[in-house]
Amino acid sequence: RLEGAGPKTVAAVWHKLGVTDIEGLEQACRDGRLRQIPRMGPTRCKSILKAIERFRSRTGRMLLHRAVGYAEAIVARLRKVPGVYEAIPVGSVRRRRATVGDLDILVTARSSTAPRRAFVEMPEVAVVLAEGPTKSSVRLTSGLQVDLRVLPRESLGAALHYFTGSKAHNIALRTRAVHRGLKVSEYGVFDREGHRLSGAREEDVFRAVGLPWIPPELREGTGELEAAEEGRLPKLVEEAELRGDLHVHSDASSDGHCTLEELWLAGLRLGREYVAVCDHSRSRPLGLTTERLLEHAARIRAFNRAHPEGPRLLAGIEVDILPDGSLDLPLEVLASLDWVVASIHSRLRDSGARLTARMESAVRSGVVDVIGHPSGRILGSRDPYPFDLPRLLEAAREEGVALEVNAQPDRLDLDDKGCRLAKQAGVRVAISTDAHLADHLANIRYGVWVARRGWLEASDVLNTLDLAHLRAWRRRGHRAPRHEPRSPAAH
Ligand SMILES: [Zn+2]
Ligand SMILES: [Zn+2]
Repeated sequence: RLEGAGPKTVAAVWHKLGVTDIEGLEQACRDGRLRQIPRMGPTRCKSILKAIERFRSRTGRMLLHRAVGYAEAIVARLRKVPGVYEAIPVGSVRRRRATVGDLDILVTARSSTAPRRAFVEMPEVAVVLAEGPTKSSVRLTSGLQVDLRVLPRESLGAALHYFTGSKAHNIALRTRAVHRGLKVSEYGVFDREGHRLSGAREEDVFRAVGLPWIPPELREGTGELEAAEEGRLPKLVEEAELRGDLHVHSDASSDGHCTLEELWLAGLRLGREYVAVCDHSRSRPLGLTTERLLEHAARIRAFNRAHPEGPRLLAGIEVDILPDGSLDLPLEVLASLDWVVASIHSRLRDSGARLTARMESAVRSGVVDVIGHPSGRILGSRDPYPFDLPRLLEAAREEGVALEVNAQPDRLDLDDKGCRLAKQAGVRVAISTDAHLADHLANIRYGVWVARRGWLEASDVLNTLDLAHLRAWRRRGHRAPRHEPRSPAAH
């Protein structure tokens, strides 16, 4: 799959050097071993390195949760190195972007030697790309490039700000500084004569340009400086404010693996007040028929009676939105449940207009609480549908229906921009894990990060409500089941 390395070359590299992957090939190019292969001169080595780079940019970025895993492991290790004061992941990981290109780590230390040696000698390093007093770069065996910056302690705040970005945010902020006769760099805030004024704390950078501290998730150059100036920065929702999870799967249908007991225990450990058990409906393989759903709901309610403490399990469903826009189970049955998520799982290649109409029909059915994973995207493998989100939001606002922020790390759907539109439209979101395993209930933080990037506050998020208020919200939103949901064919 790599240009410039045909099957013969690949076979030779494999036999002579024992190289089996891209990282090994890159290492062999860089340390000269590749020259042992016949007809492999410096020019071909260079073109192979170029091809590796192109291959990487094509295969793209790493999902945030994986990058965060690497970041946390690396900073934990660097913090133990003698002479290191701080080790903090910066860049797009700190801004919580859904995918990450390179991982940036900032270290403040007495001297750069010890942290940088520890960094390049980490066991997961495949290739050292550069090593220097202020910047070192490595590629991990996973393919992730990691850059380490080492700065003096008094520059921590300025460096944090500088390396967190985004580029657009930094340019806007530096322009503001110039207008005030200041210069902001990774080393600090300086006056016209080059005297350093401040920079030990990140707040210093913002204060120098007359602004309050702006959370990293908002630093995308999309109006955050103006909002800060006008005192309109949102008080972003925090994970601790979430009271429950409104979409998890049990072993009652298809692909879930948890018993009710396991879900309840996982919710208990995380301090959840409620967990909505929403298994698949009959159109999915092994999905619930009316009969099995009613049995399942009765089991959930009996479970609650037997477990008066801990989270309440809500008897719910993730009902399929069928190709004609109707729901996969009778409306009366759905209306008898505690929670209804409606999602599209079939005919994903319908036109955007049709997909919008299908979801709008579900919104107007009178029995749906939340539209699940509204855009259908799977990061790295499926683009979002070309659907009409503003139109769906308009319907959701009219009907009192929420949209989901699905916290599965490869979905994150709605995305940050969708969250911001939902807020503007006056539609609440439900941040849900869509857990299929008990461990997945902890994934809610990835959804919270999306919501924060979407400028959402606690009041914009449905599951910050306690159970009593959630039920009240539901009663207000719900009308009687409507027997003839508007057909998509009408659009
Ligand atoms: Zn689903
Ligand atoms: Zn689901």
